Amino acid sequence: MSLLSLTGVSKRYGEVRALDRATLSVEPGTLTAIVGASGSGKTTLLRLVAGFEMPDEGSITFDDLQIAGPLRIVPPHRRGVGLVSPEGALFPHLSVGGNVGFGLESRSDPAQIAALLAAVELDPSIRTRMPHELSGGQQQRVALARALARRPKLMLLDEPFSALDAGLRANMREMVKRRLQAEGVTGILVTHDQQEALSFADQLAVLEDGHV
Ligand code: ADP
Ligand code: MG
Repeated sequence: MSLLSLTGVSKRYGEVRALDRATLSVEPGTLTAIVGASGSGKTTLLRLVAGFEMPDEGSITFDDLQIAGPLRIVPPHRRGVGLVSPEGALFPHLSVGGNVGFGLESRSDPAQIAALLAAVELDPSIRTRMPHELSGGQQQRVALARALARRPKLMLLDEPFSALDAGLRANMREMVKRRLQAEGVTGILVTHDQQEALSFADQLAVLEDGHV
């Protein structure tokens, strides 16, 4: 049984068909890459899976439950899905520790925060810093640690390395891959970079004008 299935999912914004009868299955414990040019519908697909948008037609099943479709809609915080955006989108007014702790049930458990920072290969002493005091790569690591803190079954990564230079990109990609595999988290990486997609994934999907 697939962990995630999209069946005939469409999403329009006015005249634009951002996603057109998209069908995709993701098996548990695997890494999928979705490649496509800018505007092909990659972010729309992830936002539908995360629950920030609703499909116009079709259905999405996650973990044996219909989460979007004619029968029901499950809100984002009840889906067990993590999302890391291109800029990381850390809370600017919270420290690193505060950001990571936000994902935890016990908001400020220092041991858990330190373990999560170590998991993304950051020195735990960084926890008192504010987001603006970090490099782009460090911010993305913190964003990933925050998403992992919620123990999602599925991690959605929306071009999370696009702001990083080539060397750091490869390094981050390998780190993310190791981390998801170690935690048994299923992953979907969206990218416009074919090389990145191939070195990350077990399964590759190509999006073109809203078609998978
Ligand atoms: P990608 O992430 O592959 O660059 P998107 O999913 O962001 O593509 O966008 C797919 C298409 O939908 C584009 O033509 C984009 O302009 C359009 N689109 C996305 N979000 C909106 C929105 N909120 N309102 C109107 N058009 C949108
Ligand atoms: Mg996008």
